[in-house]
Amino acid sequence: MSNCLHRLETIYDDRFAREYGPWRPVVAQVADRFLACGVLEHDFARIRCDACTHEYLLAFSCKRRYVCPSCRAKRLAIWTQWLDTTLLAPVPHRQVVLTIPTRLRAYCLYRRRLLGEIARVAARTVTAAIRTLTCEPDLAVGIVACLQTHGSRANWHPHLHLLVTDGGFRPDGTFVSWPVHDTARLTEAFRRAVLRLFVPPPLRRPPSSPRHDSRRPRPAAGGLPCSSRFSRSTRSRARPAMAPCGSSRSSPRPR
Ligand SMILES: [Zn+2]
Ligand SMILES: [Zn+2]
Repeated sequence: MSNCLHRLETIYDDRFAREYGPWRPVVAQVADRFLACGVLEHDFARIRCDACTHEYLLAFSCKRRYVCPSCRAKRLAIWTQWLDTTLLAPVPHRQVVLTIPTRLRAYCLYRRRLLGEIARVAARTVTAAIRTLTCEPDLAVGIVACLQTHGSRANWHPHLHLLVTDGGFRPDGTFVSWPVHDTARLTEAFRRAVLRLFVPPPLRRPPSSPRHDSRRPRPAAGGLPCSSRFSRSTRSRARPAMAPCGSSRSSPRPR
């Protein structure tokens, strides 16, 4: 199998890069580690019981994700136990799944850092949604974001599974529940926030302020003049397409 992999590496750019993105050296590293997982000739520990002098050899595992079913199952069990006992607050949680528009997925193949950005956008969007729907602008929302890059057919399908507190915590520690799960507005807000990542900064420069710093995405009113599709995406990233309760200012509403 190792030979096959290294042969694949030599022909990959010509035959597969166009469809599956550039070759990533980590693939070969992970595969090599997986092939050595649990094999005694690739390092082991000798374990001996002082009391009865029984001893045995324990081969090292690869500790890789996904590729190695054995190590993955172990990691998953340890991690979920840690989540349950250490991280998660004793309040109800929801799972929120957010996907990326099909046309944008290919960009993430070539700019993998976008995946992290999208995860952060997702967390900000869900936080804003909960704060808006509860009318509590200071709520702290707990989110664990898991990025999955493949679909059920092992195809390229980056999407996010978010484990979210079913509400949030006020500064004094009291918990406020998330009353309504407004899927349509959350979807629209996430869509707009993701699209902002893909719009080149110069196009977002408001025509009235040419010296506006275009290096960072800005939520300033008048942004995105390039297209009517984006013209209503002028809210701060923390509150895309959602208005605070009781606000008298008009806000962009999803269609
Ligand atoms: Zn013993
Ligand atoms: Zn392994």
